[in-house]
Amino acid sequence: MTKQSEDSQDSISVRALRSSGNLKYAEELAAIESAEKAADKQGGKRSTSLVQRLIYGPQPDSYEMRPTPSDPKSRIHKEQIIDAAKDCLSRGQAFTADGKLSSELRSAVNEYNVYGYTIPQEFGGAGSSYRELAELEEDIAANGLGGLAVEISGQLTIGAGGLIAYGSDEQKSLFLPLLAEGQLMAFALTEVKVGVNAKKVSTYVEFDEANDCWRLFATGDSNKLYITSAKHGGLIAVVARLGQDSRKLGLFITQLPENDSQKGLDNDFGFSCQPSGTEAFQTNINSRLSFDNFPIPESNRIDADGLEVLFYSLAMGRCMLSAMSAGFQRLYASEAVNYAKHRDGVGGRVINHELPQLSIGQILGGALQSRSLCHLSLQQNEQHINLSGLRDITKSAAAGSLLESLSCAERVIGGRSLNQDSPVSATRATAHAFSIVEGENDLIILGMVREITSNFVNTYMTGILTVLDEINVDSQGNPVSDDKRILSLGLKSLFKFPGRSLRAILKLLISKSLWALLAWMLKHAILDILALPKRILPVSWRPRYAKLPPALKAYARYAESRLQDQKWTYLGLNIFYQLRLTRAQIPLLIFGKRIEFLMSMLAVVYAGSVATEDIQAVAALQAELLKQKVKTKRVLRSLPAIEKLRRRLQRVSGFVKSDDCSMINDIEPHTIPHAWSDLKN
Ligand SMILES: Cc1cc2nc3c(=O)[nH]c(=O)nc-3n(C[C@H](O)[C@H](O)[C@H](O)COP(=O)(O)OP(=O)(O)OC[C@H]3O[C@@H](n4cnc5c(N)ncnc54)[C@H](O)[C@@H]3O)c2cc1C
Repeated sequence: MTKQSEDSQDSISVRALRSSGNLKYAEELAAIESAEKAADKQGGKRSTSLVQRLIYGPQPDSYEMRPTPSDPKSRIHKEQIIDAAKDCLSRGQAFTADGKLSSELRSAVNEYNVYGYTIPQEFGGAGSSYRELAELEEDIAANGLGGLAVEISGQLTIGAGGLIAYGSDEQKSLFLPLLAEGQLMAFALTEVKVGVNAKKVSTYVEFDEANDCWRLFATGDSNKLYITSAKHGGLIAVVARLGQDSRKLGLFITQLPENDSQKGLDNDFGFSCQPSGTEAFQTNINSRLSFDNFPIPESNRIDADGLEVLFYSLAMGRCMLSAMSAGFQRLYASEAVNYAKHRDGVGGRVINHELPQLSIGQILGGALQSRSLCHLSLQQNEQHINLSGLRDITKSAAAGSLLESLSCAERVIGGRSLNQDSPVSATRATAHAFSIVEGENDLIILGMVREITSNFVNTYMTGILTVLDEINVDSQGNPVSDDKRILSLGLKSLFKFPGRSLRAILKLLISKSLWALLAWMLKHAILDILALPKRILPVSWRPRYAKLPPALKAYARYAESRLQDQKWTYLGLNIFYQLRLTRAQIPLLIFGKRIEFLMSMLAVVYAGSVATEDIQAVAALQAELLKQKVKTKRVLRSLPAIEKLRRRLQRVSGFVKSDDCSMINDIEPHTIPHAWSDLKN
C-alpha cells in the first residue's frame, strides 16, 4: 500500500482517487465526507438511508413511503400567514420602491411568528416542524412571494438550524429570540475565490489576547460573496479558518455594523457590505462582505466544524428549496392555464391542443414531484432515518423540474412570459439559481452516488483497490509516474504491462475481498431469482401495493424493481472502469439521474395514493413521464456509446484547453465579475 492510502478513516472513494493520482481531489473529498458523516451523527440519524435500502436491501415497508397527514392546527396557522402576506401584496406594500421585500411585509407575516416558525417556543419561536414549514414555504412561493420564502428558508435552515443543533445554551438564548423577532440571519461560506470547493475557505480568524476577542479577516478575494440576507445591522454566521494556515474551519456568529468603516487611526477594523449584483433572488438582500481585523466576541464561536454545521443545515435547506420549487411550479401552472384558456391559437383556444396540455401537465407533475420528495425526506427526518442520497435527490429533482417547468410555461404563455412584470420573469433568475445554490445539482448527484454505494464499495471493492494500489508503486514504495499507472486490469493492461498485471491478477485471486464479492453476487443473484415471480405476477395480486390506486400500482413496482437492479449496474460500472471510475463523471451522472428519476417516481406514486382524484391523475402522468425518462438513461447497455462520447469530448476539450478552438478564439471574453487574484481577466 502507498503511504497515503494507509489512513483507515478514508473511504474507498478517497483511496481510489489517491491511487489514481488525483491527490488534490482526494484531500478535498476526504474533508467533505468527514464533515458529512459528522453532520449525520449530530442529527441522530440511525437507520440506513431509504435510497440505500431500496437498492441494496432489505426492502423498506411500503408504509414508510406513505405520507402522513399534517396537523389541521398548523394549516390554520399557515392560512393566516398567507392571508396576511396576500393582503400586504394587494395593498401594494409588499415591496420597496427598489423592488426589495418591505418591512411592512415582514412585520405583517411576523405577527404570526414566521421568522421563528421552527424555533423552539422557549426561545420565542412557534415551535413548528420542518414539514409544517415546507407547506408554508410552498404556499408563499405559489402566491408570488418567492423572495419571502427564500428569506424565511435561509433564516430557519442555514441560519437558526445550525444554531439550534450546535449552539451553546447561552448562544441560543442570546440569538434565537432575536431571530424569532424578525432579525435576519445570513450564513457566509462562499468567497470571491471559493465556490463549490468549500474546504478551501480562506477567510480566517486570529485570537486577540489583548482584547479577548477573535479578529476576522476576509479582505480582497477572501471577501464573502453572494451572501443572502446579509445586511448592515443584521446577524451572520461566518465560516472561517482557525488561523491563517490552519486546516480547521470554525463558525462564528456576529452582528454586522450599521455602517461601512475603514481601518485607520481611530478605527482598528474595516468592514463593508455591498450588493453582490446578482440577478437571482432579486427581491432579497444579497451581499459581498469585507472584514479586516473585525472583532467578534470570544463567546460567539460555535463549538463545531463550520463545514459540518453547513452540511447539517443544508439537509433542511435542500428540503425547503424543494418546497419552494413546488410553489413556483404551481404558480407557473396557474399562469399557463389562465393564458391558455383565454388565448386563441391556431385552430381555437391554446388549452385545447395537445402540446400546451403536455406542457401544463409537466409543470403540474414537476410541482407534485418536488412536493412529494420534500415531504418524504422530512418524514424520514422525523423518524431519524439517515437522509443520505434522498436529500440530494430531493434538491436535484426539484431544481431540475423547476427549470423544465419554466421552459414549459414560456412555451405555453409565449412572448408575455418575458414581460417585465410577468410572474414567470420575476422568478426566472431565481429558478436558475436553485440549480446552483445549496449544492450544484450535478455535483450533488455525484455525491449521492458516492454516499449510497459507500457501504457496498467499502465492504466489497477494497480487494481490487488494494491490489491496484500495490502494483502502482515502484520497488522503493514510491508511486509510479502517470504513464505507468494501471487504472484498470484487463486485456489492455495485460498487453501494456504484462508482468505487473499478472501479479495483480494473482494477488486479486487470493484476496479475501474478491471472494466476499463473489459470495455477495451469488447471494443476490439467488435472491433476485426467488423474487422473480413478484415481478411477473399481476401487480394487483401483490399485497404490498394493495393500498395504491390501480393507475399507480404498476409504477411503484417498476420503480422498486429497477432500483433493486441498480446494485448490478453499479457493480458493472466498477468492473468496467475500476480506478478509472474516479474520473468518469458522465456515466456516474447518468447512473445517478436514473436513480433520481426512479426515486421521484416512487415519491409521486405514494403521495398520489393519499391524494384527491385530480392529484392522482397528475401523479400517474408524472410517473409515466419519469418512466420514459428512465428509459433514456440506460447505463451498462450504453457504455460503448458513453465511451465514444467521452473520447469525442476529450478531443474537443483538448482544443479548448490549449486555446486552439477557432470557433471562439477571435472573441474577446468579458471581464469576469468579482475577480480573484490569480485570474487573468
Ligand atoms: C442567488 C445566490 C444566493 C447565494 N446565497 C449564498 C449564501 O447565502 N451563502 C453562501 O455562502 N453562498 C451563497 N451563494 C453562493 C453559492 O452557494 C455558490 O454560487 C455556489 O456554491 C457555486 O459557487 P461558484 O458560483 O463560485 O461556482 P464555482 O465554484 O466557480 O463552480 C463553477 C462550476 O464548476 C463546476 N465544478 C467545480 N468543480 C467541479 C468538479 N470537480 N466536477 C465537476 N464540476 C465541477 C461547478 O459545479 C459549477 O457548475 C449564493 C449564490 C447565488 C447565485
